[in-house]
Amino acid sequence: MSVGMSWLVSKGLRIAIDGPSGSGKGTIAQLIGEELALPVLDTGLLYRYLGWRVAEEGVSLDDEKAVLQVIPAAINAMDWRAEGIFFAQNDCTSLLRSEDAGSLASKVAAMPDVRAALLDVQREIAKLGCVMDGRDIGTVVLPDAEGKFFLTASQRERSRRRWSQLKTKGEDVDLEQVSDELQARDARDMERDCAPLEKAVDAIRIDSTTMRMDDVVERILNVLERRKLITKKA
Ligand code: C5P
Repeated sequence: MSVGMSWLVSKGLRIAIDGPSGSGKGTIAQLIGEELALPVLDTGLLYRYLGWRVAEEGVSLDDEKAVLQVIPAAINAMDWRAEGIFFAQNDCTSLLRSEDAGSLASKVAAMPDVRAALLDVQREIAKLGCVMDGRDIGTVVLPDAEGKFFLTASQRERSRRRWSQLKTKGEDVDLEQVSDELQARDARDMERDCAPLEKAVDAIRIDSTTMRMDDVVERILNVLERRKLITKKA
């Protein structure tokens, strides 16, 4: 057992949270991680980082072989922590959150050999227990995770959330543009042959379109508590 603020948490507990962009999985993963004192690992950031490194190295995304050659050095130079991704000692997390990095990410993420090269990195870091969010955590990366959740929300609501996040960051974007980009990314993520975005059969689906984030967190904690993976402290 490890100790969260109000919970005893079973040792090595791994919680997988998957879903499309704007489904709220990043926010929910953070809130659950804080509540249970577990590290939160955002695997989208890992794909964003690789997409960024590939672009920085001047490699074409049409050349899968060349993309693969960039990976070992990129992984070596990276420090992936719960706070974000560091490259050459610099925190590049906020740079990686841009729309451009997201689009590059979904292109490298469609390459099966790229995904295979990242499997061990993700499994290794998850070993001691974590909340891990992404697209294929419950299906491929941690199919035996003790808790698996699949978050969704309507396409309109997801676009609105994404737009509002970008606005808050000071990016000048319009809702239509964000919505088009989100649909293109959803299609790439769901239609790719390798590890497409889909719900694991044993994951619990939560539609957050009209839910407050706190209510989603409560629903997840209830499930974990019922399964005796976490216990309320006396
Ligand atoms: O979640 P985020 O929007 O940061 O992810 C960026 C892209 O990385 C996604 O659109 C998806 O193509 C890819 N990704 C993935 N598998 C994951 C996490 C992210 O394919 N586990």
